[in-house]
Parts: sequence; structure tokens; C-alpha cells
Amino acid sequence: MRILKFGGTSVGAVESIRNVKNIVLSQPGEKILVLSAMAGVTNELVKISDLMKAGNLGEISKVIDDLRLKHELAINELIQNNQIKQETNLRLNKIFGELENTTKKTHSETVYSEIVTFGETILTIIFSQFLKSEGINNQWLDAKEFMYVSNLENPDTRRVGELFEEVTSAKDQSDIYITQGFVCINKNNQISTLKRGGSDYTATILGASINAKEVQIWTDIDGFHNNDPRYVENTHRISELSFEEAAELAYFGAKILHPQTISPVMDKNIPIYLKNTFTPESSGTRISPEVRHKGLKAISAKDGITAIKIKSNRMLMAHGFLRKIFDVFDNYETAIDMITTSEIAISLTIDDDRNLNEILAELDSYAEITVEKNHSIICVVGESVIEDKHTYRLFELLNDIPVRMISYGGSSNNISLLVDTENKIATLRKLNEKLFSTSLISETA
Ligand code: ADP
Ligand code: ASP
Ligand code: MG
Repeated sequence: MRILKFGGTSVGAVESIRNVKNIVLSQPGEKILVLSAMAGVTNELVKISDLMKAGNLGEISKVIDDLRLKHELAINELIQNNQIKQETNLRLNKIFGELENTTKKTHSETVYSEIVTFGETILTIIFSQFLKSEGINNQWLDAKEFMYVSNLENPDTRRVGELFEEVTSAKDQSDIYITQGFVCINKNNQISTLKRGGSDYTATILGASINAKEVQIWTDIDGFHNNDPRYVENTHRISELSFEEAAELAYFGAKILHPQTISPVMDKNIPIYLKNTFTPESSGTRISPEVRHKGLKAISAKDGITAIKIKSNRMLMAHGFLRKIFDVFDNYETAIDMITTSEIAISLTIDDDRNLNEILAELDSYAEITVEKNHSIICVVGESVIEDKHTYRLFELLNDIPVRMISYGGSSNNISLLVDTENKIATLRKLNEKLFSTSLISETA
């Protein structure tokens, strides 16, 4: 069994949806397709949720009408068989009725999740019906029947696997199963999401749950690049990454993968292939346990970082002080990304600042606190990158970019720098230019 995940742009237009069909048919054996919503749809659904929250109910129906039209047009172009087209339009009507009813509920976290996951439900139904109209047998599966994820950081893949088995064995066998990315059921048995971009994570959770042979992530670029192509010119594809390298890059902001994508398949050694839906013949990036090349591979950036400096003349080196500080963050389930210490101060960073005020109030009793928001972590990644004789050039570059913190040696695969977000693009560009000059490129496309 293989997992094939197609992202928003891959299913964003009728032509791309036809490409997806061809890619699926070109591969033998059993497949589970994990599909996102059409490009832009989740953003519109988030807008509906925001309008509800703001009590601006008048504008909601216009957004819903536009979404309905977009999907009706897709059905019209994709499905030629009149009976299947009619059946699909009836299902679409029913779902839009449910969406309208949901917008009449009182807003809550769960209602947000119910609304934003409609995009995946609608698109998977259209795609399943499209295949059916082309005479391709397939089974549509409701992810809400098996994607039970109580702990977002550590999903119980065994449970998902058992539920998946239960759901599929009650249906006719098929070589093609189609399900929704992004959506899950949380620990309170309510509809929830794996966070924005979460369909990648659905694919690897499901891959680990059923011990898939491989997970393919189909997107709009030819693979993992050595730097963020949205901000930097002349980036290049990387043909191979290790699990550790890809996990660091995804966690530290490489948008091509949801931050948690790698962890479910790591223990099971299930490889991930990143491929381009628009040029399926090109080889993409393979992510696996193997390390074929050591040294610098790629740079990524993670925004929305808050730096906290904790200064205490009296207590820092006293036994038990660090534990007290960490306990405060732990009590609020807030992960720390970077940390540096001196004799009288600790600086650390967090990206989840939902409980910042409560955390600061508690820390205040131990030390003097300074907080700086709007920072970015720039992450330089590669197996044994810290042993790379060229990484000294990193420090040479830091002269004209103010760096707030450096983490070097925490892992041999990662060097992290904290900069003000307004210097992020300049830092990425400069590092690209200086570190990926020909003599330093450890691997090119
Ligand atoms: P999908 O909708 O298929 O999930 P995403 O937009 O989430 O696609 O991810 C693909 C995009 O990620 C690319 O178009 C590219 O702009 C962006 N991206 C950011 N960093 C990288 C990187 N290091 N390598 C490749 N793409 C990247
Ligand atoms: N459609 C969801 C989003 O836009 C999930 C995904 O695309 O992975 O965030
Ligand atoms: Mg994505």
C-alpha cells in the first residue's frame, strides 16, 4: 500500500485534477489518496469563521456562494456522465446546506474546525465522483471515522491503523481509497484539525498506521530546495535528505512540509518522496533514514518567534534554578526552541505565545524578564554540518546582520540563528549567496 498526498495547487484547477488522475493511474498496486482542499478554499473558510467571530454575518453568504460556484464549475468540467454529475451536485448541495447550518452555531474552536475542514470533504467527493465517471473504481473514506488524534505531537498510529482496518473491511475492496487530509478527531471526540498545511501530516500518520511501503507528497515544486524559493533566487533541488535533516527543516519553517510530517514514519523507516504534480517525470526528493552526503544541505526560517531573557544575579547558577524555569514553560505546555545561557542570564525562544502573559507572571517572581517579539529562527541544516570546515563562514557573515542568539552544537545537524524578522529575507539571501557558492554545495540537482 502506498500513500499519495496531493496538496491544494495539485487539486486547485480542473487541469491539475486531471494530472492527478494520470499520476494515480500510472502507479500499480493499492493506494490511499490523501487530498487537500482546492487552493485558496481553506483561506475562504477561515474567513467565514472570522466573520462569524466578528458577528459580521451579512458577508458570509457571499463567501459561501463564491465557494459553491467554484466547486460547481469544477464538477461541470470534470464529470461528463449526466447521472454521476447530478448525483455529485446533490451531494454538494447537501454539504453546502451543512456548511450554512454550521455558520449559524455559536462560534467556538470546534465550530472553527468544522467549518475549515469542509474544503477537504467537498474536494474528495468531487475527485471520487470524477474517477467514477471515468470508470475508475474507488472508495471514498470519511477521515473522521479513523483519524483519531488525541495528542497532536505524538499520534497513536496503532489506533488509527485499527480504525482504518475496521472502516475499510466494512466496505468493498478497492485499489484506490480517497480520503481527506487536515481533519481529525481530537481527545474530546470533536472535529479538529492537524493545523494549517496538515494534510502532509495526515499522509505520514496514515502511512505509519498501515505500514505503507512509501508516502508520496505531490506538490507544486520539484522537491525540497536548499532555501526558501519564495524569498531567495537561484535555489536548487536537493535529491536526498535524511529523516533528521528533513525533520529539522520542516520544524524550522520550510513550508513545503508541515512541521510534524517526518516523525510518524521515522521509527518505521517508511520513505517519503516529494514530487511535482506538474512535472511527474522529474525525480523529486527522497527522504529516508540513509545519509548519502554529509555537510550543509539547506536553510529554512521560522517566523513568529518570541525571545525571552531571564536575568537573575542571585540564582542562575544555583542548583534547581533551571528546572524551576523549565517547569513554568512545561506547566503551560509551551515548547522551547532555542536556549543559551550565561552566568547571570538565560535567553530562550518560544513560538507558541498563547500563554505568554501567564508564563511571564510566574517567571517574574524568580528573575528580571525581557521579552522581544517578531523574531525568526534561521536554521542551517545538514548531517554533521557543524563539522563542515566551511561553517566558519557563517560567523564571518554575521558581522552586518544583528544576530540575537546562536545555537551551535546542540545537534551536529543544525546551527540556528535568531534574527529580527525584518532581517529574515536579507539573512536567507546572504547565506544562500555565501554558503552555497559552488565550492560549498554538497549536492545539486
Ligand atoms: P501544498 O499545497 O502542495 O501542500 P505548499 O504551498 O504547502 O504546497 O508547499 C509548497 C511550497 O512551499 C512551494 O511552492 C514553495 O514556495 C514553498 N517552499 C518553502 N520552502 C521551500 C523549500 N525549502 N523547498 C521547496 N519549497 C519550499
Ligand atoms: N487545506 C488545509 C490548509 O490549507 C490543509 C492542507 O492544505 O494541507 O491548510
Ligand atoms: Mg502544504
